[in-house]
Amino acid sequence: MDPREIDHLPSDLRKRWPIAVARAEDKLQRLQGNGQSATRLIHAAQRARSVAQRVVWLQRAATAWAQPLEGIAACRRGCSHCCHIPVMISRTEATLIGAAIGRSPQPPAHAIELDRTSSPEELHEAEARMLAARPFGEACPFLVDGTCSIYAHRPMACRTHLNLDDDDLLCRLVPGINVPVPYADATQLKAFYLAAQPHAELADIRDFFPVAEEGVSA
Ligand code: SF4
Repeated sequence: MDPREIDHLPSDLRKRWPIAVARAEDKLQRLQGNGQSATRLIHAAQRARSVAQRVVWLQRAATAWAQPLEGIAACRRGCSHCCHIPVMISRTEATLIGAAIGRSPQPPAHAIELDRTSSPEELHEAEARMLAARPFGEACPFLVDGTCSIYAHRPMACRTHLNLDDDDLLCRLVPGINVPVPYADATQLKAFYLAAQPHAELADIRDFFPVAEEGVSA
């Protein structure tokens, strides 16, 4: 996080940021993690023959990776701030969700073709541009009564999204401000996820599943 951006935070958030970072580092040092089951699942993904199978194995790996972190994260059942921020998924994940709920994903209005991006930096910039264009605070169509209605089928982005602070203060959305959150670092899993589907079409979950007039039923 750029220090100049920290300077522009409201004072309670500005004071919290270094405390949250220190908490996250301390928790990670004390964590008796079990990365082995996640590693086995990643290897299974690498052996899988189809893109869909690879993605399913990687989703399982993400769940195994997140399990020890859940005990130290601020994330709690019923907390849904992160269901109101952009959620990038691939066409394959959208198809898996659609098959599980009996609803076909739509062609997204805005998408990134992964094989047309030449570097991780270019992809990051394309993601940032696309996601910044979405309305602020728009709920995921699968958030129902504050709970994920497709929990067993939720995408990688949701499985790996964990705030390592003690509470949700930094997750709360503040209009016009990009509040930093000490998220668990899922960079490696994301790299496997992208490598598993090099021709992926990526878009926000809301673009694949726009809310229909009659609403979304999962
Ligand atoms: S898929 Fe579920 S967990 Fe992910 S943003 Fe939507 S409601 Fe939240």
